[in-house]
Amino acid sequence: MITKSLDHKKIKELSRIIAGCKRVVITCHIAPDGDAVGSSLALCHMLTDLGKEVHVVTPDMFAQNLFYLPGAKDIVIYTRYSDFAIQLINDADLIFCLDYNAIKRVDKLGSHILDSAAIKVMIDHHLGPEEFPYLTISHPEESSTCILLFKVFCALGLVPLISKNIATCIYTGMMTDTGNFSYNSNKPDIYQAISKLVECGINKDDIYRHIINTSTLSRLRINGYAVSQKMEVFPANRAALITLTRDELNEYDYKKGDTESLVNLPLQLDNVDYSVFLREEENYIKVSMRSKGSFPVNKLCEKFFNGGGHLNAAGGEFDGTMQQCIERFNEAMKYGDTLLKSKK
Ligand code: 5GP
Ligand code: MN
Repeated sequence: MITKSLDHKKIKELSRIIAGCKRVVITCHIAPDGDAVGSSLALCHMLTDLGKEVHVVTPDMFAQNLFYLPGAKDIVIYTRYSDFAIQLINDADLIFCLDYNAIKRVDKLGSHILDSAAIKVMIDHHLGPEEFPYLTISHPEESSTCILLFKVFCALGLVPLISKNIATCIYTGMMTDTGNFSYNSNKPDIYQAISKLVECGINKDDIYRHIINTSTLSRLRINGYAVSQKMEVFPANRAALITLTRDELNEYDYKKGDTESLVNLPLQLDNVDYSVFLREEENYIKVSMRSKGSFPVNKLCEKFFNGGGHLNAAGGEFDGTMQQCIERFNEAMKYGDTLLKSKK
């Protein structure tokens, strides 16, 4: 049974909470990715179909390719419509926290969520969930929040209500959080879920084309520039580094999401176990890391960049200049050497 890992007492409580609520707000983490937006919209469609008044509120803008997802244009983006977003949160009687485990991951929305009288329910797959929600369905062993949500729908008996739109959103998050089923994707239940989603009418090939295989000129050029001019490989440390400054991003007319999968590219090299991408934002440096095998990039992000994440995909932030951040990276790489040695 696909739902066997879920705590059925919690599912019963969730069912009771949903039955009693009227106004729902669904939130996800800052810089929302396919799993964050996909799970939020899937749940939004489901609860709307159940007759609830539902809004998705994100802390900031998401990548352009996710506009393809049904309902994306109705998402309330806090950085654009902050008063409306706050009003929705204050008026809600139920708030979902999807695809994040810590309140700081929703940035400025955090204090409003905590202050709201609404019941809070977290559904997430990151390690170490904080304790602020009333109900937490946390499964770090799941590869995406979307497959976890699919299992929750199954346990709630909602499978007959999974529309093509809901299935499209769920499939997108399952796909993007596993690098198109290239990592974290060996569990058979993933494919049981996909089989059901195909039955629900998704066009898998179409989703892939829109979400993954669609680009803009600026995106292609910035990725080409980054790999040819800005990628350093450290074979002795089995690491690679790419950095992009504000000036470089501006020169290539960077838009949010343009560097989304850039950090994965150096992993194609045989002598690279982990890859680090540093992107200069307005007031900080955004850090992204990916690894293959058992190299734990979440440890590096926690220890050196005030961040976290999963074994093979993690991130963090650095307060300071790019040069200082590169120095921090060098320290992190030394620590990475000890992790590599302890593996041997
Ligand atoms: P990305 O590199 O795509 O921004 O993030 C990859 C994964 O790392 C995310 O799914 C999330 O789990 C984690 N992550 C990214 N940025 C942060 C951060 O600033 N703090 C924490 N705790 N986790 C992060
Ligand atoms: Mn996720």
